[in-house]
Amino acid sequence: MIIAADIVLKGNGEVLPHGAIRVRGNTIIECAPLSEISGKSQEKLIDLKDSILSPGFVNAHCHLDYQEFKGVIPPQKSFTEWIKKINALKNDFSNQDYCEAIHHGYQDLLKTGTTTVLNIAAMPEVFPYLTAPPLRVWWFMEMVDIRSRLGTEEALIGFFFLMERTKKWLGGVGLSPHAPYTASSGLYRHVRRCADATNMLVSTHLAESREEQEMFLYGKGRLYDFLQKLGREMSDCGHGSVLSSLWESGVMTSDWILAHLNYLQEYDFEILRQSRPKVVHCPRCHTYFGHQRFEMERLEEMGILVALGTDSLASNHSLDLRSEVRHARNHYEHKTPVEWWRMMTSHGAWALKQEGKLGVIQEGALADLVAFPISGEKDYFEQVIESRCAPHYVMVNGKTLLLEEN
Ligand SMILES: [Zn+2]
Repeated sequence: MIIAADIVLKGNGEVLPHGAIRVRGNTIIECAPLSEISGKSQEKLIDLKDSILSPGFVNAHCHLDYQEFKGVIPPQKSFTEWIKKINALKNDFSNQDYCEAIHHGYQDLLKTGTTTVLNIAAMPEVFPYLTAPPLRVWWFMEMVDIRSRLGTEEALIGFFFLMERTKKWLGGVGLSPHAPYTASSGLYRHVRRCADATNMLVSTHLAESREEQEMFLYGKGRLYDFLQKLGREMSDCGHGSVLSSLWESGVMTSDWILAHLNYLQEYDFEILRQSRPKVVHCPRCHTYFGHQRFEMERLEEMGILVALGTDSLASNHSLDLRSEVRHARNHYEHKTPVEWWRMMTSHGAWALKQEGKLGVIQEGALADLVAFPISGEKDYFEQVIESRCAPHYVMVNGKTLLLEEN
């Protein structure tokens, strides 16, 4: 099959006018001007004409479980209060509600151009009821061991179903100890051993809030008091930053995907220079919580690529990565449209160890494509970022998808 468009955005940021892609099975086997490809065979041609064809976007931090929480929790003065509110909200939802939420999340992602998502999955009890997603989902099993909501047995059964089901689904699985304030150092060590043994990816929330940093640096504050009352062992607090605490425990590797990193001490940058983890920034969630400025420039200067995520709709309005960029670039004016576009595409793929496979249009990449209308002759990366409509063409894994009506 050949897909053609007036503009094709290749993986390296090159713009290919009157371009075409030959897809065989689920893979792009050729990308060249249409005139060079079309004469070679009688293959089916889908000519999108007046369109910009881009690799599908990669959302590197999301929680589809909370898709129906949109607008329910207004911004709180305290991160700890927000945690209490979302914990209360979770109890009001049934397994059926969560399955529907996840399904709505798939559609919201596809309708905004995302074809791959790193989804933190906190509800293993719903795994037996899920059907195959129409896009690539990396299910990162969330783990908490202070006052865990589920018994070990339920969590294990859910994880068993997940492992079985995802063998046939697009995407993969990973492990997500929630954060050092809810997952013990012992749990982090188990995760590291398990990830080493199975080659699974790991993602964790880190240095997200001022209250988390205060808890680890000084052994005090609202989050400290809240968790101490819940019975958390607090002897790991008061010794240094949360990043240094994790780094010194020896569990973290350069493959780990760290969401947020909003509150860093000066010595943390040296740790990042040595450890070189993968970092995900969630711009609108960042503003929702009123965090201090994310240190994008310093991380980039160190050669650390930053991927983009939406986080959940408990602290955001949509799963649209274009909206994340439109919001973020008010704060980082140095970045060009193509750099932002790479953050929406290849940086997320790199975080998932899918570089060259996802988030790019090139020979050998998987055929995950989205098309948007051309509006004038200005920068085509800018046009993608500024587009507000759903893509009028979506391909995932070599198959054309029809988006569901609302
Ligand atoms: Zn999150």
